[in-house]
Amino acid sequence: MPILSATLDQIHQNSVAILGVPWDENSSFLRGAALAPDHIRQVLNDGASNMYNEAGTDLETQSNLVDIGNLNLSTDQAFQKIHLSIAKGLENGGRFLCLGGDHAVTYPILLAYTQHHEPINILHIDAHPDLYDEFEGNRLSHACPFARIMETGKIGRLVQIGIRSQNAHLRQQIERFQVESYAVQGWSPELVASLSGPLYLSLDLDGLDPAFAPGVSHHEPGGLTSREVLSIIQAIQAPLVGADIVELNPTRDLNQVTARLAAKFLREIAAKMLTQEF
Ligand code: MN
Ligand code: MN
Repeated sequence: MPILSATLDQIHQNSVAILGVPWDENSSFLRGAALAPDHIRQVLNDGASNMYNEAGTDLETQSNLVDIGNLNLSTDQAFQKIHLSIAKGLENGGRFLCLGGDHAVTYPILLAYTQHHEPINILHIDAHPDLYDEFEGNRLSHACPFARIMETGKIGRLVQIGIRSQNAHLRQQIERFQVESYAVQGWSPELVASLSGPLYLSLDLDGLDPAFAPGVSHHEPGGLTSREVLSIIQAIQAPLVGADIVELNPTRDLNQVTARLAAKFLREIAAKMLTQEF
């Protein structure tokens, strides 16, 4: 049975809303991430797995979990529409689990979050810090979202895990914004548990090794394993007010391995959000 459908207007105090954000115009290398939300839903519902998370929560019995579909986006209004849609759901007390899209979409999502939760802490899994001041002339590039959001001054801690692609500029930005940036081996369950709420999780699938997640635009070997990322999600103790899973590029996937991984992360993250006390 698929997750219940709903509209943005139906989001209420206890809702956890899955929202597709099919936008990849700010990708610097390859397009394709805009196709991701529908691919993730397809494997979630194809019968190969059940709808439980590993701890035994059955998403099919969770009436507060809803799928509100994909945003209908066009070039001239994409970021504004993402921002306003999230803001509206947050005003009604909901929490979002967004499916990208490339990582650029996290900026307008978090911009809305900072208006409702300040300061907010961020747990960011990625091969890349995504802290460029600008990338190839684009300040809204998928290489820049965390620079833009840190500039608001409304973020408590930004903790990054899996980082293995840097340069002098990015190291300066990490210093400038006092980002806690950890390589693949640098994280621990205690680090994740030290994050207080409200917490937002941003999961770029290229944080995983390409052996586990080949369906991404930027293959960066030497990454996290599937089990490590599951352990990171499971180690979260703070109230999780929102999350995104970004950078799945179905045009690069092999036998839907990466889409299925994204669907499993969706089950873990949604179950975490639904079973926490608020
Ligand atoms: Mn990223
Ligand atoms: Mn990345």
